[in-house]
Amino acid sequence: MTEIRTVLTGLELLPPAIGDEFDVATERAVRAFQQSRGLSVDGRVGAETWRALDAARWRLGARTLYHAVPEPLTGEDVRSLQERLLEMGYDVGHADAIYGVRTARAVAQFQREVGLKPDGSCGPHTMGALRRLGRKVVGGRPQWLRESDAIRQSGPTLVGRTVVIDPGHGGTDPGVVVPDGPLRWCEADLVHDLASRLEGRLAAAGVRVQLTRGPTPATCLPDTDRAQLANSLGADVFISLHTDGHANPEADGVATYHYGTDNGVTSATGERLAGLVQREIVARTGLRDCRTHAKAWDLLRLTRMPAVRVEVGYLTSPRDRNRLVDPRFRDKVVEAIVAAVQRMFFPIERDVPTGSIDVSELRKVVAAGAVMD
Ligand SMILES: [Zn+2]
Repeated sequence: MTEIRTVLTGLELLPPAIGDEFDVATERAVRAFQQSRGLSVDGRVGAETWRALDAARWRLGARTLYHAVPEPLTGEDVRSLQERLLEMGYDVGHADAIYGVRTARAVAQFQREVGLKPDGSCGPHTMGALRRLGRKVVGGRPQWLRESDAIRQSGPTLVGRTVVIDPGHGGTDPGVVVPDGPLRWCEADLVHDLASRLEGRLAAAGVRVQLTRGPTPATCLPDTDRAQLANSLGADVFISLHTDGHANPEADGVATYHYGTDNGVTSATGERLAGLVQREIVARTGLRDCRTHAKAWDLLRLTRMPAVRVEVGYLTSPRDRNRLVDPRFRDKVVEAIVAAVQRMFFPIERDVPTGSIDVSELRKVVAAGAVMD
């Protein structure tokens, strides 16, 4: 019992122990833990929950990780390592918290690229290299970053870039639904409209654009497939469009999400794109600023390019909804995103103030056949 409480306290699911009994707070913490790990939520510590709790107490760096046979090492530290490797563009499959062959191979590849002995095990030296690079080298392996630097130096033109736009939901999943009133909107339809408008504006600026779905797909594509599509197209930028919903009609505003974990690992390029998208939308539409946030969602974790998910207002907020049903307002949202994508390709020292890019100018440049440099 004390051990369970100790683990839960370590995971910050439970305040430091006072008593020793399996009390209400402990049960609540167990439930929260089970929910976070996708276990069946019964509040009891059976064999499966105990194994998960035991694995959860390992923090990355606390022990040397290696590919053990036949019983592979498992734990939260393995998951953190896998997330970092995925983040840097190494193929470890899913971050399943099991140190298998694929993880060992990815570690060896990383070691080779940073000049360490490629033995596929993760000890202090490899951890050190991961720590030094983890926060900076993101959205691609070191050599990919050098390539993207080269692209950046080729100029800020949007011509020839590939942008994947992901209208959320669709098919059997309508997303947020507003059933009452004369304006019957569902999120899936609204974000597809936004995506089509964005496609038009970006295409006019010379961008190759691909949508992850049509207006009325038969089924709802899972986020892993959406990410996979963007990866297979070698997209330069990935933008997922959603609207939010809340039981409280007072909740409103726009928020943008980029990849990041609780460990403080963040995709620097994703974070930059999220900041640009968020600031441009707030400046151009006046939607309330619900800021940018780091999330480890599949969509953001598995995509290998700067990727963001924008929640453009709350469909459940009468204020946001009335604005969103106006096509001119939606055009403003789209202009804001185009401006953000353009700024993404400006070198940081040549960036321009928020709200200052006239996106119709981009079109003229393409029409004139000129390539900006
Ligand atoms: Zn949504």
